[in-house]
Amino acid sequence: MDVLKFGGTSVANADALRKVIAIVQERHVSSQRLVAVLSATSGTTDALLALARAAGRGLFDEVAMRVEDLRDRHFGIVDDLISGGAARLSTRERVSSMIDSLSSYCQGMAFLGECTPQSLDEVASHGERLSTTIVAGALQDAGLNAVWFDARSVIRTNDAFTEALVQFSDVVRLTEQHLIPTLQLHDIVITQGFIGSTADGRTTTLGRGGSDYSAAILGATCGARTIDIYTDVSGIYTTDPRLVPEARPVPAMSFREVRELALYGAKVLHPDTIEPAIAKSIPVRVLNTFQPDAPGTIITAEQPTDVAIHAITMLKQCLAVRSVGASSSRQAQHIADASGFPVVLQLSWLEGSLMVFRYRDAEHAEHIKAAYENIAEHIDDVVTIVAVGPHAGRADAIAEVARIAAPFEPLAVTSGISPVSVVGVVNERGGLPVVRALHDQLVGP
Ligand code: ASP
Ligand code: MG
Repeated sequence: MDVLKFGGTSVANADALRKVIAIVQERHVSSQRLVAVLSATSGTTDALLALARAAGRGLFDEVAMRVEDLRDRHFGIVDDLISGGAARLSTRERVSSMIDSLSSYCQGMAFLGECTPQSLDEVASHGERLSTTIVAGALQDAGLNAVWFDARSVIRTNDAFTEALVQFSDVVRLTEQHLIPTLQLHDIVITQGFIGSTADGRTTTLGRGGSDYSAAILGATCGARTIDIYTDVSGIYTTDPRLVPEARPVPAMSFREVRELALYGAKVLHPDTIEPAIAKSIPVRVLNTFQPDAPGTIITAEQPTDVAIHAITMLKQCLAVRSVGASSSRQAQHIADASGFPVVLQLSWLEGSLMVFRYRDAEHAEHIKAAYENIAEHIDDVVTIVAVGPHAGRADAIAEVARIAAPFEPLAVTSGISPVSVVGVVNERGGLPVVRALHDQLVGP
């Protein structure tokens, strides 16, 4: 059994959905049974949250307008996607009754003039419920043995609405009870990411972007062979393609490397969300809905050792604070501890120390600078560059990074906390050239 997850852009409109359906059809031929976990169509979760807030403020007209927008948008997709008359009609009816109950619910909220976290979740859950209804209808219309499945019957959570915590052992039991039997009767199960429910049947959500997490949980509890996260890029890249046009997807990397990249600012999938899959040694692939033949990136618990360095990332908005002398260094440390400034890197030696902080905005940067003004020898605007790879922690790899960065006078080059990373700190202006040089010489064109 395989789990496929499709994000918001993959289900954004009828064109994208045709690609999703083609992928599911093809995978169905080549594989065993499938569970497809879907996000809401892109923009819909935001629209639903805005709807809920309008309802909470008692804005009946706005509520009506927003509900009809959602109805039009989803009807438009159904009509564009499903050609068969009967299938189109029955899918339209299902969409319509979901929107009708959403509408009554929001009117109730508007009467009360109240928008609680619980009602936010109830309203937001409609995005995934609608997208899966449409896809299940289209697959049935294409003659496949596909079924719509309510994720809330298995994704059991606590009642921390909007950021609910999954109760894993309950999910294992409920999967056995409800999902496995459904998979025995149907080739393809279409279900929702992001949503769950409490033991007493109230709808919850797992937090924004929670669909990857849903896919990993279901993959882990069903014992999937692989979990494929379909998105709109062809995997995890060797570096940001906007910085280095030669960047390309990394074929395989370890979970630890992904964690390190995310920690240092790379826009990769959130590592925590796939942790349940990695814990069960289920490989997670990042694939592109719009280029389904591209190999993508496979993320594994084990460390692939094909090359020394896989990827390079750059964390902007950093300040380096250098202190000279044992007492200044101690004071610098005290300030860091007391203020809770976000520390990216910290090095100390007998006669001094270097601390690198990440700031949120100009005001935050000023705040950090002011705190160190009278203690630090130097405060510099810097970037933190991190190379990750199987051998990144080795002395020869660190020396290599130091050699390449040398013309830009790095403030530091050192091994990261994890053995799969090496960290360099350079002046802001040197950031891009160093990333390019490292990519060129260590990752290769
Ligand atoms: N639809 C939800 C969101 O936009 C969950 C997801 O897409 O992962 O946050
Ligand atoms: Mg989304």
